[in-house]
Amino acid sequence: MDFLQRLARFLDRPLFPWKKLILGFSIGQYLFESFLTLRQYRILQQPKPPAVLSKEISQETFDKSQAYGRAKARFEIVSGLWAQIQNVAFVQLDVLPAMWSWTGSLLLKWAPARFTGEISHSIIFVLTFIILQQLLNLPTRLYNTFVLEESFGFNKQTPKLFVTDMIKTNLLTAVIMPPILAAFLKIIQKTGTQFVFYLWIFAAGLQLFTTTAYPIFIQPLFNKLSPLDEGALKTKVEELAASHKFPLQELFVIDGSKRSAHSNAYFYGLPWKKHIVIYDTLIEKMDTSEIIAILAHELGHWKLGHTTRLFGIAQAHLLYVFSLFSVFINNASLYSAFGFRVQHPIVIGFILFSDALSPMDTVIKLLLNILSRKYEFEADDFAKRLGFRGELASSLIKLHAQNLSTMDADWMYASYHFSHPHLSERLKALDWKPKQALTSEKDKEGVVKASGREEL
Ligand SMILES: [Zn+2]
Repeated sequence: MDFLQRLARFLDRPLFPWKKLILGFSIGQYLFESFLTLRQYRILQQPKPPAVLSKEISQETFDKSQAYGRAKARFEIVSGLWAQIQNVAFVQLDVLPAMWSWTGSLLLKWAPARFTGEISHSIIFVLTFIILQQLLNLPTRLYNTFVLEESFGFNKQTPKLFVTDMIKTNLLTAVIMPPILAAFLKIIQKTGTQFVFYLWIFAAGLQLFTTTAYPIFIQPLFNKLSPLDEGALKTKVEELAASHKFPLQELFVIDGSKRSAHSNAYFYGLPWKKHIVIYDTLIEKMDTSEIIAILAHELGHWKLGHTTRLFGIAQAHLLYVFSLFSVFINNASLYSAFGFRVQHPIVIGFILFSDALSPMDTVIKLLLNILSRKYEFEADDFAKRLGFRGELASSLIKLHAQNLSTMDADWMYASYHFSHPHLSERLKALDWKPKQALTSEKDKEGVVKASGREEL
């Protein structure tokens, strides 16, 4: 703690150019990421699939996946540029202090006197901030869903679903965010310099609560989960779970096809009571044995302790973030550089602190991706040792072909961005020897899109 206090004093220098530093980080990061994207773009221009895939992937599927990859890369560069323009404008035009005083005067004018403290003010401020961000990012989101994804046949969302999803998400935010933010601020106000520990306990408790409450209260608002029908698939999954003492509570099918023929399977729940969820699209596109192979890979993550270790790492990360926040929370030079000369609202401190921390976040993201790729290889190996080598390889190939996922990658781009090894690497590690073409020209209709949770 003594070290943190000394660091806090060291970093609080009047007239320190915080604005320039934070803008520099942000622009530097964008330039670096664009450089990586351009490197990857060269790979996406190659005319032939990598050797290990030459028999499984048809030329047509490969061409399409390359074109899709290039379209996404161009989108990344442009939307990233738009984000940078917003960021520079926010900082240079002092949008944060203007919004803070504007929301403050709204409260004074409209709210009863007992709602004018820092907590109510922060809640109104954050809500306004979220709405503004959403409006600014709407053009890129619309383009992504209804132009880019649509033109490759992936989008299954209607404009109506897009709008209702957005309304539901905003209503949920309006209900869930205020009590959490209020608790967060209250803990800091009450516990003073000791807040790190209490905030950490609060965040861990919140995580456990969300794990339990999300599938019960929130997911049903967006998707339908129904129990898996009796049959060969159910029996086999139950056998697989039982043979490894996996605490399987229930098996669900989710209607992922409603938004984007996205296919996947995942586990959720508390350590002693787990549920398995399989996408309807996965059941539609894969053989039973391939689905079992995918679940064997997932089971590998659990059996090899990946899930537990990642949870531990997440807790350590939170402790690190809160400890550093305690260094910045009273940094007068940071606040005043951004136009908060008199008042030092905690929530503003947290926003500025997050920006100042972004280079460290980049390093942490890189390290976590390295670890995650290692775990993916281990989980593949687990499934292979259970005798699923062939089924896992064919399910991976099918998924990548149907999703038009990138099949090869620039090493720098992949090290930085990928939480999963790419297809050629995984097939090589599985020691997969191609026998026959798995994707013929015939099954190219019915493309499956993986978005969000692409992992398996
Ligand atoms: Zn995995």
